[in-house]
Amino acid sequence: MTAPLVGRFAPSPTGRMHAGNIFAALLAWLIVRASGGEMVLRIEDLDPERSKPHFADAVQRDLEALGLTWDRGPFWQHDRTEAYEAAFETIVDACGAYPCFCTRADLAVASAPHLGDKHVYRGTCRSLSAEEVRERRGAGEVPAIRLRVPHERIAFDDIICGSYGQMLDEECGDFIVRRKDGAFAYQLAVVVDDAAQGVTSVTRGVDLLSSTPQQVFLQRALGLPEPVYAHLPLLVSEGGRRLSKRDGDASLDGMLARFGHPAGIIGHIAWIAGLQGEDAPATPEQLLEGFDISALPTLYAGRISIPWR
Ligand code: GLU
Repeated sequence: MTAPLVGRFAPSPTGRMHAGNIFAALLAWLIVRASGGEMVLRIEDLDPERSKPHFADAVQRDLEALGLTWDRGPFWQHDRTEAYEAAFETIVDACGAYPCFCTRADLAVASAPHLGDKHVYRGTCRSLSAEEVRERRGAGEVPAIRLRVPHERIAFDDIICGSYGQMLDEECGDFIVRRKDGAFAYQLAVVVDDAAQGVTSVTRGVDLLSSTPQQVFLQRALGLPEPVYAHLPLLVSEGGRRLSKRDGDASLDGMLARFGHPAGIIGHIAWIAGLQGEDAPATPEQLLEGFDISALPTLYAGRISIPWR
């Protein structure tokens, strides 16, 4: 038996839950509860445009109805600006940073696609002179702030994917720590919050695997503890597309109409994800009885997707 873990649900309140994020939440819960640990709920409302209070309410009701319980929180990212500011200053002092005026369109040309949707920043604004920066600011352009990354390989062991790493400069590039709208970047906020909330276990979709070296780099540079990561295959629709709000049959309401009750939804997701042998209703508590974290690498390693059906 390992030491009790502290895990987290970290929903962004930008829509209702669907099968994909319920699967990730279920696994996060099972991994933590199997260790006798506790769950934290953090509402990731960093993006003021897309985050909506009614989705934050809905996600809490949905998690409760599904039996995905938490012990601490909700913590809100909108309350955490001072902590992000302090970490931002520390990391910028330690690594160096520069204003970046690139637009989305510039980035699409100036960076090479890597690992799915990860783009490597080619350093377009890295060597702007103070003069150029002044001129562009003077002309009303608002920059994001990019951290200078070293020529260093950052690797970590993922419970499911095994050892994973990136050469920061070649496979990631300088990355944004503060956005043009002034909001602190997800990569920074998530690291600061995980540490402050005592999170030791992070379970989420494999779409975030390629962001994790950035987060581990920030943890090491800020002297913060590193959680244990588990990156799960993504539930995908028939065409191989990641499930989203567009897939009505995978939405919570769609699934409630199909399965009748929350245990029907949890049981079905557990079945397609290989956590139980039949498509039968189950609560998270019931799944916990047969759950074995050491079976996960065999179940999911090398799989980046699970077809939704
Ligand atoms: N807030 C992110 C999401 O809802 C999750 C981020 C994370 O797990 O680190 O996709």
